[in-house]
Amino acid sequence: MFRNFKTVSRVLYGRGSFDQLEGILQEKRKGNGSYIVFILDDVFKDHPFRDRIPALETDRVIFVSVDEEPTTAYVDDLTLRVQRFSGILPAGVVGIGGGSTMDLAKAVSLMLTNPGSSADYQGWDLIRNPAIYHVGVPTLSGTGAEVSRTTVLIGPQRKLGINSDHTVFDQIVLDPDLIASPPADQRFYTGMDCYIHCVESLTGTYLNAFSKAYGEKAMTLCREVFLTPTPDADEKMMMASYFGGMSIVYSQVGVCHALSYGLSFVLGIHHGIGNCIVFNQLEEFYPEGVREFRRMMDFNGISLPENRVFGIEVQKLEKMIDVSLTLDPLWENALGKAWKSVITRDRIKELYLRM
Ligand code: NAD
Ligand code: ZN
Repeated sequence: MFRNFKTVSRVLYGRGSFDQLEGILQEKRKGNGSYIVFILDDVFKDHPFRDRIPALETDRVIFVSVDEEPTTAYVDDLTLRVQRFSGILPAGVVGIGGGSTMDLAKAVSLMLTNPGSSADYQGWDLIRNPAIYHVGVPTLSGTGAEVSRTTVLIGPQRKLGINSDHTVFDQIVLDPDLIASPPADQRFYTGMDCYIHCVESLTGTYLNAFSKAYGEKAMTLCREVFLTPTPDADEKMMMASYFGGMSIVYSQVGVCHALSYGLSFVLGIHHGIGNCIVFNQLEEFYPEGVREFRRMMDFNGISLPENRVFGIEVQKLEKMIDVSLTLDPLWENALGKAWKSVITRDRIKELYLRM
């Protein structure tokens, strides 16, 4: 059986295209009492960009902190805040920020129409009811969260996405102007998330021509952005993120993501930098990718923190291994159906202790 994927319904792309968001939302407003919820990265709280948000007085603008990666508790709290704001459901939820903020917006739009806690839905296809109309506007590119069918959350037990067709954005606005401001190191780490998606997708056992076509283009764009940059690097990075995300829709990520989820669950290390720390130790799995990644680090003057895992308590290390081992599809994509004969707890421990 082939998987029948849902993709983003509408895509708006181009420098300055963000200004068309107002008109797009206008079509969704349904008269009296209708309102839109804007979920915005709080980096924009005192930023001139705040004045460009097309929020009406009746709308709700919520600034979110992404100092910690999104948790199920935070999603539940935000959902409650929206429910308390009005007796009726919003006409739309708009997430404006990096992968964390877009994921929060996706999750809130789902939880407004599905009962219980977001932790109940971490997994694959557990969501029953369609989400509120939701829009993603990236201000940092690389994660592919704008196109994926998941919202990655740290729950009480594990870091795992709410993977479902309903998670996918109804509309995305890709405006390269918006990704000009992140600090260079953050831009690199999130850009490398995209590069690593491509390496893991293109070397994985799940690869097919659909994933390969997207993955190869995304990888070429990443190389241009991080090794031969030109003035249109933001355009390229935005499209690399989109294509990288599309590549893993039909394949999977691999060893780096399986290990980095454990790292972020236990040590709170963010996804982009966590992937870089892990990937740097995976030459035996991805020899060419890791060598090129190191060239990109050198070219961009990036150095990574060392010894983040070495010396941590045994219990924490064991928990990291547990989290990583829950991600069967990632290991299977990387190493094939017999991955359990290659990957043991001791093997993972040895890899973690290098980081
Ligand atoms: P992020 O959203 O966590 O943001 C990183 C930092 O950049 C934050 O401090 C943020 O305030 C800042 N920032 C964002 N835009 C900015 C701008 N324009 N100017 C200045 N600062 C800006 O980073 P990310 O790497 O985009 O996202 C990581 C998150 O995405 C993780 O939680 C990860 O689990 C998730 N993720 C989701 C998917 C998915 O498919 N849903 C895929 C990969 C990763
Ligand atoms: Zn990733």
